[in-house]
Amino acid sequence: MLHPKQKKATNTRGRDNGLRKWLRQLNRQRRIFIVWQRRGTHVARGGESTHECKNCGHTYIGGYCPRCGQSAAAGRITLRSALSRTLEVWGLGNRSLPRTLLHLCLRPGYMIGDYLEGRQIAFFPPVKLLFLITAAYFTVCHFMGHSGLDSVKPIMEVVTLPDNGEPAYEAKGRLIQALNTFSLSFYHTLNLLQRHYAVYIVLMHSLLAWLSMLIFRRSPLHSGMSFTENFFVQIFIATQLMALSIVKVCLLGFGERHFMYELPEVVFYLVLFIDYKQLYGCGYLKNLWRTVLLILAWMSSLTLLLLLAILATVGWHLV
Ligand SMILES: [Zn+2]
Repeated sequence: MLHPKQKKATNTRGRDNGLRKWLRQLNRQRRIFIVWQRRGTHVARGGESTHECKNCGHTYIGGYCPRCGQSAAAGRITLRSALSRTLEVWGLGNRSLPRTLLHLCLRPGYMIGDYLEGRQIAFFPPVKLLFLITAAYFTVCHFMGHSGLDSVKPIMEVVTLPDNGEPAYEAKGRLIQALNTFSLSFYHTLNLLQRHYAVYIVLMHSLLAWLSMLIFRRSPLHSGMSFTENFFVQIFIATQLMALSIVKVCLLGFGERHFMYELPEVVFYLVLFIDYKQLYGCGYLKNLWRTVLLILAWMSSLTLLLLLAILATVGWHLV
């Protein structure tokens, strides 16, 4: 018979073993997940059997007729094939939409890399996806009783000088007039962009694309990417942020006004950090430094553009 103390020791050891086993299992799952994240989609080998095309009569090996492009699976119309063809009218007929969203959630940077390297048929066309998800966002907003847009208020009151102002005030009057013009046109431009939200998002991300082209020019995984490639990266990132905004709005509703997305700014920066880490494959510190640099450069460029716009308007009025 065991002494109570010994018995207790055995119990703890048993629990320890259980915990260790569970941790080992968890670690194994984590490693499998990481391998999957890096490898991504895998195209299964097609059968070696011969088909005769039902459309043109050509005999061939593989999944599609090389002469007319009809699928070897084409045959009698079933409910499933009819449904899939109906969805195809809106470009949703294959499995690539849910797959693209899943991969964008679980392995965004790797998926974007796959797409740029030419594994494209597995994924939904990115620009189309961004417009689709923006539409979904506004649908959700509509059902939540919110326009999804904040109307921008004029940044300053329109100031007027009395008509019989003294000559000494003429220059001041013109300056005020110039600032008024700028304020109003800025307000109209912002409102216009807000009403065309997708365009606004695309413009903001274009600037990010150009800056990340410069900052990530040399990287272990994707060196020397062109502006167009970087632009596609940004389209995917925008889609991801838009999808996150939908989730956030559904779970927590609308919060205070945000810069671009209905998301806390920290989420926006975190998404950029994770995506760039997976896509370019830099070390953690280097990636962090480059992401911070990118955000600072982006903010400064926006400020600079705004200042240039003010100077141009004022100058035009004063000359
Ligand atoms: Zn054929």
